[in-house]
Amino acid sequence: MTFRELGLSEKVLQAVEASGYTHPTPIQAKAIPEALAGRDVLGIAQTGTGKTAAFTLPMLSRLEKGRARARMPRTLILEPTRELAAQVEESFARYGVNHKLNVALLIGGVSFGDQESKIMRGADVLIATPGRLLDFAERGKLLLTGIEILVIDEADRMLDMGFIPDIERICKLVPFTRQTLFFSATMPQEIVKLTQAFLHNPVRIEIAPPASSPAAITQILVATDVGPAKRATLRNQIRTASNFKNAIIFCNRKRDVAILHKSLLRHEFRAGALHGDMDQRARMASLDAFKTGDVDLLVCSDVAARGLDIPDVSHVFNFDLPVHAEDYVHRIGRTGRAGKQGTAISLVTRADRKHLAEIEKVIGRSIDWAEGARLQDLGSEEHEPQKPRQRAGSDRRGDARAHKERKEREPKRGSERKPERRDHGKDRHRVPVQADEPVTGFGEHMPSFLLRPVKVKTNVVEEAE
Ligand code: AMP
Repeated sequence: MTFRELGLSEKVLQAVEASGYTHPTPIQAKAIPEALAGRDVLGIAQTGTGKTAAFTLPMLSRLEKGRARARMPRTLILEPTRELAAQVEESFARYGVNHKLNVALLIGGVSFGDQESKIMRGADVLIATPGRLLDFAERGKLLLTGIEILVIDEADRMLDMGFIPDIERICKLVPFTRQTLFFSATMPQEIVKLTQAFLHNPVRIEIAPPASSPAAITQILVATDVGPAKRATLRNQIRTASNFKNAIIFCNRKRDVAILHKSLLRHEFRAGALHGDMDQRARMASLDAFKTGDVDLLVCSDVAARGLDIPDVSHVFNFDLPVHAEDYVHRIGRTGRAGKQGTAISLVTRADRKHLAEIEKVIGRSIDWAEGARLQDLGSEEHEPQKPRQRAGSDRRGDARAHKERKEREPKRGSERKPERRDHGKDRHRVPVQADEPVTGFGEHMPSFLLRPVKVKTNVVEEAE
C-alpha cells in the first residue's frame, strides 16, 4: 500500500514524501481513508504507531477547503500534556509545509496574550490541553461552535490525569455534527463510556503495540540501598551500561526529579530534567537538548514523559520502581523502539518488594537480577552504604571520573569526627563518645518526643505532576 492510494491531497502527499515516509503504517492505512470520508474513528493505538500522522494528514487534506474566522477555530485537537501538544504542532508544521494554515497552541505555562492574538486571527487548527482550553472558552475568548473535526488523543492518559470531566464538557461545547477522531492506547470502562456518549457510529481500528515488544528490551533489576547510596548505584549503572547512547531516568516524584538532576550535574553528567513544576520554556529546552544529543540523560516524572515520541533511546532507568505496574510498561516502552534493542534497568530497594511482585504479575514473567545485585546481596542493614559494582567492560566513561568518585567515598582529610564534646548545656544528656566508635542519631540518648506514639500514613504517593 502506498500513501497515494489513501486519497490524500497532492500537497499532503508532497509533504509526506519530503518527510521520507514511503509506506503508511497500519493505523495510517486504515484510519486515513475513513477520516477523509468524514467518518468518526476510534483508534486503539499508542505512540510509536504513527497515529499522529493518521489524524494530521487527513485533517490537512480536508482543511484545504474553507477558511477560519476570528475566535472560531475549525478543528480542535486535545492532548493531555503540553509536550504532546507541542509535538503535534511540530507535525502540522512538517506535514503542512505546503499549506498556509494558522495553527494555534493553547497550553498552560505560556502567556495568554500571545495565544489570544493567534486565536483572534482565526485558527484552522487549535491544539490544546483541556484546562487552558476551558479557561479560554469560559472567558468568552473562544467559540467552539465552528469546530468541524475534533481529535481526542491519548484518551487513557487523560483519564489517568483526571481530565475526563473536562473532555465531557468540551464535547458538549462543539457542534453535534462534527467529526471525531478518538485515540487511546487502552480501553478502560470510563473510556468506553466516553466513546459511546460522544462518537457517532465510529470505525474501530485496533493496532498492536509498536516495535517496543518485550523481546526488544532487555530488562534488569539492581538491588540498592536508599538515600545517597541509591544515586551512587545509578551513577555506577550508567557508567557501566553496555551499548549506552542515552537514557531516560524515571523518578516517582517531581521533587526527586529535581534532586537527582542536580546530583547528576554535580557528578558531571550531561543531564536534563522534565517535570510539571518547570515552566514551559524550560521543559521544551530539556526535551530539545535530549533529542539533539546535547544531553544524554533526561530525568523525568511519569506524567511529563508520557506519550513523548523520542526515537532511539538506548536505556531506561527506573530510579524509583513505579508504584503502578502499568507505568512500568509505559516507561520501559520508551526504549527498544523502531526495531532497535533497548535496555531497561530498575533499581529496587527492600521496600519495593510488593511493587516488584505486581510488575512481574502484569508483564507475566520474572525479571532477571544483575549478577551479584539481588536484594539478599545487600546484607541486612537497611542503611548500609552501597558499594558501586563494576561490571565487565568496566568504566567506559573514563577512569578519571571513577577515580574522583572513589576519592569522594574516602573520608576527607581532617574530616574525622572530633573526639569528645563537653557534657553541658543542651548536650547534657549526650554520652561521651570515642573517636572510633560509630554513633547513630542521638547516640545512646533517646529524647522523650521520639518515644511518643505517632500515626503513620502508609503508601502515600505524591502525584507525579
Ligand atoms: P507517532 O505514533 O505519531 O508518535 O509516530 C511515531 C514516529 O513514527 C514518529 O517519529 C513519526 O515521525 C514516525 N512515522 C510516522 N509515520 C511514519 C511512516 N509512515 N513511515 C515511517 N515513519 C513514520
